[in-house]
Parts: sequence; C-alpha cells; structure tokens
Amino acid sequence: MNRVALYLQEHLLGEIITSKEAREYFSTDASIFKILPNVVIYPMHADDVRKTVKFSHQLSLKGKILPITARGLGTDLSGAAIGDGLLLVFPAHLNRLLELDAKSGEVRVEPGLNYGKLQQVLLTHDLFIPTSPTSMEYSTIGGAIANNAGGDRSHKYGKTLDYVKSLKVVLSNGDLIETRRLSKRDLSKKMGLTTLEGDIYRSIDRLIEENTSVISTINPSVAKNSAGYNIHLVKKKDGSFDLTPLIVGSQGTLGIITEASLLTMPRRPKSSLTIASFNDLNSLTAALDVINKFPEVPSAIELVDDKLLTLVKNVHPNLLKDIFNTESSKFILLVEFDNPSVRLRAKLTKRLDKYLKDKGLLFETSTNPVRIEEFWKFRRSATAVLGYLEGSAKPLPIIDDGIVPVEKFSEFIQSLYYLFSQNDLPIYIYGNAGDGQLHVQPILDLGNVGDRQKVFKVMIEYYNLVKQLGGSISAEHGDGRIRAPFLYGQYGDQKYEIFNKIKTIFDPQDILNTGVKFTDNLDSLKPILRNEYNLDFLYNYLPYV
Ligand SMILES: Cc1cc2nc3c(=O)[nH]c(=O)nc-3n(C[C@H](O)[C@H](O)[C@H](O)COP(=O)(O)OP(=O)(O)OC[C@H]3O[C@@H](n4cnc5c(N)ncnc54)[C@H](O)[C@@H]3O)c2cc1C
Repeated sequence: MNRVALYLQEHLLGEIITSKEAREYFSTDASIFKILPNVVIYPMHADDVRKTVKFSHQLSLKGKILPITARGLGTDLSGAAIGDGLLLVFPAHLNRLLELDAKSGEVRVEPGLNYGKLQQVLLTHDLFIPTSPTSMEYSTIGGAIANNAGGDRSHKYGKTLDYVKSLKVVLSNGDLIETRRLSKRDLSKKMGLTTLEGDIYRSIDRLIEENTSVISTINPSVAKNSAGYNIHLVKKKDGSFDLTPLIVGSQGTLGIITEASLLTMPRRPKSSLTIASFNDLNSLTAALDVINKFPEVPSAIELVDDKLLTLVKNVHPNLLKDIFNTESSKFILLVEFDNPSVRLRAKLTKRLDKYLKDKGLLFETSTNPVRIEEFWKFRRSATAVLGYLEGSAKPLPIIDDGIVPVEKFSEFIQSLYYLFSQNDLPIYIYGNAGDGQLHVQPILDLGNVGDRQKVFKVMIEYYNLVKQLGGSISAEHGDGRIRAPFLYGQYGDQKYEIFNKIKTIFDPQDILNTGVKFTDNLDSLKPILRNEYNLDFLYNYLPYV
C-alpha cells in the first residue's frame, strides 16, 4: 500500500483500497476512456470526504497534485467518473434516504443512493421525480445531480436541476458548505465570510456583475444543455443568489456533493401514448411543428429511425412483431400525454389523432397500460439491442448527446445521415424529437487502428456540425473528458473564459476532477482511449426490453 493510502487509512473511517483488481475495476466508466486511479476510497460519512479533499488540497499547496474524482455507479458516458488520483466511491456507504416529508414531497438523500430505489420509495407515497434518466436503475442520485441528467420526460418536466432545492458540498479546500437560494440580505452575510465560501460568493457575484450581457446570452437556444456551467441561473433579477445551479451539472469539478434536498411531484400514473409512422422526414417535421404548438406539451416525444428498427428486427425477429405495422416507416414517433385530467388528455390525443388521420398517416393511440408498454418497446428495445451487439465493434458514446434548436432538427438528421455515409459507417438514430436531441453512436472497434482514428475524425465533423446548427454539444450527458476539447468551439472566447474563471474561483489548485470539462487538446485524449469497449458491468440490468 502506498504512503498516501496509509495516511488516509489512519485518518478516515471508510475503507481505502489500492489492490490492482479494484483499481482496474474503477479505471473505466461507460465512456471510451480508461484511467487507473491511485487510491480507491469508500467514504463512510461526509467527514471522510472533507478530510480526503483537505489532504489533497494541502498536497497541492506543496506542489503535488493528486486529483479527486467522485464516483456514483460509473455509468457516465463522457469519461467524468474516472481519474488518476483519489477516487471517492459513494454507493458503498453514503447511500441513505435520510428523510422524506410526504406532505411537502421534499426528500433528503445521500449522493450514493441508487436512483431507481429512491424512485420506488417515492412511488409508494404517490410521488416521483419525473426527469429520471434511462439509466436510473443502475446509477445514483448523486451522479444524476452532478450530470444534471435528463430523461424521456424532460421535454415537459425539465432536468434534474429543476428538482434540486439545496446541496451540501465539500469545497476544494475541504470546507463543507450548504447551497440554496439566498435572499439579498443572506447573500451579503455570506459575502462577509473570510473563508473560501466567502471568496466564492464575492468572486462569483463580481463575475456576474462584470459580465451581465455575455452571461445573459450564455445559454444556447436549445431545450436542454449540459455543456459548461449554469452561471446564468445563479443570480435572479430580485437579487437572490444560489450556487446550486453551478454545482448541478459540474461533474464534480467544483465541489463534492455529500447530501441533497430534492423536490418531487405527485406521480402521473395514467397516460395516453400514440405511436405513428412517417414515410419521410418532411411529414415527420411537419407533425413535430404542429405538436410543438399544442396547448400542453407532451410528456415525451421519442423518435426511432427505420435503420434502427431493421437492426432490432434482425437481432430479435419476434420482439416487435405484430405490435404495429412499420413496413414502410422511415421514422416511428411516440407521443405521450400524462395530464391527470382524463378529459384534457382525451382532448389532446383527439387533436393529435385528427391531425395524423387527416394526413393519411398510420398510427394508433392507447390508454391501456399493457399496450402502452408494448409501444414503448419500439424505443427501449432499440437502446438495448445496440448495447448488446456481438463482436468487438460496439456503438461508441462519442457523439451521443448533441442537441439543436427544434427548427434545425430536420437539417440535423439529414446532415447526420450524410456524415455517416461519408465515413462509411452504418447509422442508427433515436432520440428526444420534441427537444431536437439525437443519440447516435457510430459502431467502431477500439482494437482496430483505422477505427481508432475514425473516432476523432467523426467527433470533429460532428461537433462542427452541431456548432454550425447553433446547438449544444451536450444536452444531458455532460462535457466530461470527451467533449472538453469542443467546449471552447461551442462558446467562444468570452464565454469560455467565464467558465474558466468559475473553475478557478471554486478550485484554484485544479484538484477536483482534473481534465474534466477543461482540456483544450484533443490529442491528450488519445493515450487514455480504451483498447476495447463494453458495458459488461451493466449485465445485471440490461437489456432494457
Ligand atoms: C445505458 C445508459 C443509458 C443512459 N441514459 C441516460 C439518460 O437517459 N439521461 C442521462 O442524462 N444520462 C444517461 N446516461 C448517463 C449516466 O447514466 C447518467 O448521467 C447518470 O445520472 C450517472 O449516474 P452515476 O451514478 O452512474 O454517476 P457516475 O457515472 O459515477 O458519475 C457521473 C458524474 O457525477 C460525478 N459525481 C458522482 N457523484 C458525485 C458527488 N457525490 N459529488 C460530485 N460529483 C459526483 C462524477 O464525478 C461524474 O462526473 C446513460 C448511461 C448509460 C450507460
């Protein structure tokens, strides 16, 4: 055991592990990267987190950088749950649901709590968090907060940030603070503190005041954005101030979350689902245009293209058989309404059905839960089949999370088909059509030299395309390591500089998840590229069909 591990073992209550096997296990997440941590730590309580960060901070003052990476269940697709220093693994101990006020719906949790378990408990109280990611069953609530995760229903209900009321956070010097929305008066008290917390409030306030007009345009015109930091949401017009939006989505680069108070909402057990088939892109985008103008936003609008449907049918010939006729489909669209009022739901679906009927499109609407589950298979089986392709070529999460303004959606799809054909790659498209977001994963073999080069070529072309269309490189998965070199391209000088300053204000020694969100050099990613890609650690949970 190395000296660092021995020191930590003496001072922490949680376990400290340096075995090759454990370090190897934690050297990957769901991204295409691999980095061996130096020491793996299972913090027993917030004080262990505090002591670990303080230790790393003190080392950094002596010129030795030992970065700290927080980790939930490691399903991060951007390479943000791995790091070469100290890895704080939260699910082992800091995994409790601390308090649930069923009346107000507020719930207090530790970050390592499994998101799926939290949701199960909430449902028994007729509550839920509507923005849960597809990966809910095998990820933590801390990971969802740090990534500002979104899900099928984010189109209507927003992302994780919308449900975070306050956070307990260990700062880069080991101090523990609580973030929540503060009145002007409380803000001045915080600004009077002579601690790092005081510094942060003063410096962030100054940064906002000095850059008001840039910050007001910092958020791209897209439905969801996880690129950069949410600085535009910190200070409101009434002078109230909250650091929470900065921590949410920061991927452990500004502070380590040790506790969260979350908001929930009454669950929506009943819904209607329409499945519709489109023969071409024009009729699809015309329908999306109409749906986007409905008086109530659908709770989900999901898209799958014919290439993915064909793949599903080839791999599992009986899976989608006889559910819905997709013979001449180019695209399948799923539109869900979940308003608790039966009358209103019926009104909305009637309007949608009329439109689809008038256009002569093939569709079916159902309110029967069993039938609805069958319809959902068209979207969910797609992800599962892709995740379990046989052979060494795998769908790689390298361009999986781009989003464009909805009016550019059709151009986005066309350009993607072109980009893939130019690179001689098969393409399978699915995504949140209502938001203009697509998940595409080129199928490449990381053991093949040519394919490894293609990884970078495809990324450059894709992120240029997203930029050209005025989109965001990340809707919900975060910049991580993979998109860090493209963050500057999306935001340009002034905005990127603001993000850099935020990082320096919170973490002047750059010890928190070093290399995540900020890497200007694409070449620096080459040495950490895995030699193979798999999601074997998710075999207990997938396929999700
Ligand atoms: C098959 C699959 C499907 C997915 N579907 C979705 C989806 O629908 N929507 C979506 O948004 N994402 C999705 N993801 C990505 C990922 O699952 C989510 O972002 C998830 O919320 C991450 O949770 P985790 O526990 O695995 O976190 P990890 O992967 O362990 O960590 C994620 C990030 O959070 C940071 N972090 C973790 N704990 C803390 C803490 N206590 N303090 C500070 N930072 C912390 C880590 O450092 C890292 O930067 C998917 C991934 C896979 C593999």
